[in-house]
Amino acid sequence: MTSTPALFLDHESLVPLIEELSKTLEVVAPVYAEGEPVFATWKGEALALDADNPLNSPVEFFLPQKEVLFKYVQYSGRYTFSEEPPKSRLILGMRPCDLQAIKVLDEIFGTELSDHPYTSKRKSTIIVAMNCTSPGKGCFCASMGSGPAAKEGYDLLLTDVGSGYLVESGSPAGMFVLRANSRHFEEASPEHLKEKERRLALAEEEIVKRRLALTPEQIREAIDETDWEEVERRCLRCGGCSLVCPVCHCFSVMDRGVPDGERLRCRDTCTLAGFSRMTSGANPRASLGERLRHWYLDKFVYIPEKTGMLGCVGCGRCSRVCLSDVDRWSILREAIE
Ligand code: SF4
Ligand code: SF4
Repeated sequence: MTSTPALFLDHESLVPLIEELSKTLEVVAPVYAEGEPVFATWKGEALALDADNPLNSPVEFFLPQKEVLFKYVQYSGRYTFSEEPPKSRLILGMRPCDLQAIKVLDEIFGTELSDHPYTSKRKSTIIVAMNCTSPGKGCFCASMGSGPAAKEGYDLLLTDVGSGYLVESGSPAGMFVLRANSRHFEEASPEHLKEKERRLALAEEEIVKRRLALTPEQIREAIDETDWEEVERRCLRCGGCSLVCPVCHCFSVMDRGVPDGERLRCRDTCTLAGFSRMTSGANPRASLGERLRHWYLDKFVYIPEKTGMLGCVGCGRCSRVCLSDVDRWSILREAIE
């Protein structure tokens, strides 16, 4: 990965910097909405960088919950198509777990068959990641190897070292941002670098101590041992756990409007009955228990087979969002302990 010597940005200089950047880019950052942190287009609000990682993952800016893929117009039996160009965007405050999720999605959407709506947004986005020095209570990134320190995939990387941020670049685009805005930065000292290592070691220790998740090997074993009918009785079938997951990426496509209209892509999930139901009415995964089991198999068997990476990055969102308190990881732990 491309890099330059680390720089230092004091806390007070962050807002002036993003004000500058927002003149030419759409800046997306964690901000507060009704008291809760959310990733949204920054319009000068207070930043929520110290809060828990928002429930809506920044992955939504590459794979939105709902998006218009293109519009179509029919004239004399012939169709013409038009699509919106992607916005030039900068995402600030992306955590290492979400960065790893994007690495998995890049492999899925960007390799064998390139998914143009996804890849075009990826190419036009600068990622300013932020290392997790105070991890959220439900996070277990360290168990999944995705955090609390980001290793790659960012353009710029911030680490809060107390008095400000240590700033490291990871790509030519990141270096360009640093050079073009050099007046906001100063050279980082060896103490800043040591403080980064100290804080990240403490964060990792804290996450590992909580033992929220099992290892991927234990999870594979637990999938066979779990009483899926019992889990089925507790689940409300809302699909929320998949829809907040930064790695889940299933979608459905529909055309709205005849003869003119638009093609929509909406996020979908294998945990909902309609996802695998066929036109005949037959459903190869008819029970919710079978679908929940499939969800884990996808994350810990099928996605690793396809990408070489786990389909879970340990962000903890699936357990946080569940109205029925189905802790996705405790049910597996109970099965093998
Ligand atoms: S969020 Fe909870 S209740 Fe909703 S589908 Fe997932 S496990 Fe079931
Ligand atoms: S499965 Fe749950 S913990 Fe894992 S990445 Fe998805 S939302 Fe996060």
